[in-house]
Amino acid sequence: MPNTVLLHPAIDHGIKRGAADFAGGTLVCHCIEDPVKVEIKGQVVHNHACGCTKCWKPTGAIFSVVAVAPTSNVSVVANGQKLAIVDPGATILRHACTVCGVHMHGPVEKDHAFKGLTFVHTELSREEGWQEPQFAAFVSSVIEGGVHPDRMGSIRDRIRELGLVPYDCLSPPLMDALSTFAAKKSGVLPS
Ligand SMILES: [Zn+2]
Ligand SMILES: [Zn+2]
Repeated sequence: MPNTVLLHPAIDHGIKRGAADFAGGTLVCHCIEDPVKVEIKGQVVHNHACGCTKCWKPTGAIFSVVAVAPTSNVSVVANGQKLAIVDPGATILRHACTVCGVHMHGPVEKDHAFKGLTFVHTELSREEGWQEPQFAAFVSSVIEGGVHPDRMGSIRDRIRELGLVPYDCLSPPLMDALSTFAAKKSGVLPS
């Protein structure tokens, strides 16, 4: 029987590879009138499916798909007055459109391993060629979003079937970056 577990519309029909020479594009919120537009120069990295309860996801999806770009490559180019920070205390300062609710950009500004990076959802862009999702993060957290624990086996099977590895926190390179940052901060590693 085919696995019919739905995760997110951008990956449910298979993963489409990105383009190596991709120049970037413009994210557009869901508002029909005066949409917020955010321009990204160049390609994103660490694109992934995320099961946490904080990342924006389209209606019906149990995962978000989120990537990072250098904050210096990300700029709000239209209707930025509609944006507000969802949680000013969070590491990722997710800026949401106050009318349609879509998260448009989420810079990390505090002292953190991810400082200088901005979290973005490339599905909001019409351009094709963005880096494809590389892994699935915070998979167990979908339970906190309302998914029954009995479904976790088939959800992880589906993630693997799509060619992604399901992690219950971040991918090993990102977890290593967080631990390296902590080790330098405590003095265990020279900074
Ligand atoms: Zn909007
Ligand atoms: Zn997330």
